[in-house]
Amino acid sequence: MTAPLSDDLVLHVGKTTRERDEVLGRFRKSAAGILAAAAVLGVGGGGLLAFWALRPVRQIIATVRAIQAGSLDARVPTRNSADELDQLGRLFNEMLDRISVLIDGMRGALDNVAHDLRTPLTRIRGAAEIALRSDGGSQAHRETLADCVEEADQLLAMLNTLMDISEAEAGALQLTRKPVSLGDLVESVADVYRHVAEDKGVALHLEAPTEVWLLTDRSRMRQAVANLLDNAIKYTPAGGRVEITGLREGDTAVIAVQDTGIGMTAAELPKIWDRLYRGDQSRSERGLGLGLSLVRAVVQSHGGRVEVSSGVGSGSTFRIVLPLGPVKSDG
Ligand code: ADP
Repeated sequence: MTAPLSDDLVLHVGKTTRERDEVLGRFRKSAAGILAAAAVLGVGGGGLLAFWALRPVRQIIATVRAIQAGSLDARVPTRNSADELDQLGRLFNEMLDRISVLIDGMRGALDNVAHDLRTPLTRIRGAAEIALRSDGGSQAHRETLADCVEEADQLLAMLNTLMDISEAEAGALQLTRKPVSLGDLVESVADVYRHVAEDKGVALHLEAPTEVWLLTDRSRMRQAVANLLDNAIKYTPAGGRVEITGLREGDTAVIAVQDTGIGMTAAELPKIWDRLYRGDQSRSERGLGLGLSLVRAVVQSHGGRVEVSSGVGSGSTFRIVLPLGPVKSDG
């Protein structure tokens, strides 16, 4: 308060605010500390809570990714609780189970058809062959009969491959396993395809150690490697290069077939192992879409796996990875 006392005197009266400022200062400090802690806790706790709450969604995403990568038996882990996301997971699993029953049904039907068609087809082939061996008939008839025998052979080969694939997938494929040298196996397949590659103008290179051993059914494994090499040459234009390499990686033996051919898109890769799948680009080439299914089925029944990496225009690499045989290998 200010009051003039006389002309040259003024009275100023005041009260110190130091105590109040001190209290307010302390209050401000603790309030700032509490607010900062609350903000950190709020953001951190909220983030953790959201992370925990979205766990089922992440599990569904992981399951879809696994299915896209080819493991059709992947399922979302569920807790049997009433929460909505858990219910969504259970419904998703039920839907996958139904799809898997449908796929099994379709496979079963295909196997049955393949099985049932073999007998009449063998009979037709036999009848055509007997007629062809007999003396009668014109030249045109004989040529038609020869075509029938050839077509029947191709159909029988297709049906037999289908049956082999389903037997291998069911773990019922008869395998006669013997120690086989990796180098010999790879070389014997490459020998068969040397001329095919040469005729097409594709350079074929081979590299494989003979001192690495596998315990394998030689003819089945040759068939699997041959399918990969056949594809590599088939899908590589003239002037390209195909390399077949055998190597030892840790306690596995690897057979890699690399080409500089047309390659495949990332979306196509999971489908190439399906029975009867053929890429759009490959319709002009000979084939039935059974080669890679057989490769995978045979390799898996040997306890191995097949891997693929590919890019459109940059070529493809297929790798058969197999456990090493019992014979000591120091390759
Ligand atoms: P196909 O009889 O059509 O060759 P496969 O089962 O052997 O059947 O292969 C399935 C599909 O995978 C092929 O139709 C082709 O589109 C693709 N494919 C396989 N190998 C290769 C490769 N080396 N390069 C490019 N595409 C390939």
